[in-house]
Amino acid sequence: MAECLFCKIINREINATIVYEDERIVAFNDINPQGPTHVLVVPRRHIASLNDLAPDDDQIVGEMVRRGAAIAKQRGISEGGFRTVFNTNRDAGQTVFHIHAHVIGGRSLHWPPG
Ligand code: AMP
Ligand code: ZN
Repeated sequence: MAECLFCKIINREINATIVYEDERIVAFNDINPQGPTHVLVVPRRHIASLNDLAPDDDQIVGEMVRRGAAIAKQRGISEGGFRTVFNTNRDAGQTVFHIHAHVIGGRSLHWPPG
């Protein structure tokens, strides 16, 4: 996906502060953080949105969520709590069409979201 921003970050064509990576997953700091911790966890493989998930993707989505929780634990915010969000399409405000789990925490978060 030549024009995908997150594919470019994964391929090191655009800079980001990468906080974790393995063969399947990359995590980096959000450029516009909504809390003291705001990390985006993405699969290396391009998937545009949750609407495009196939049964074969169950493993990678599970790894994304589990990695987000591990990063929250490393940051010392797992006990206090954190929020994990996948925005999908227009009404949820998705702006980058490569699935990503937002992991936000380090402050008290309101519910319901806006
Ligand atoms: P969403 O609106 O759910 O699609 O989230 C996209 C997120 O990507 C937003 O929180 C942006 O702040 C973030 N973002 C956009 N460009 C970059 C970038 N170059 N590096 C890191 N995060 C970015
Ligand atoms: Zn992509």
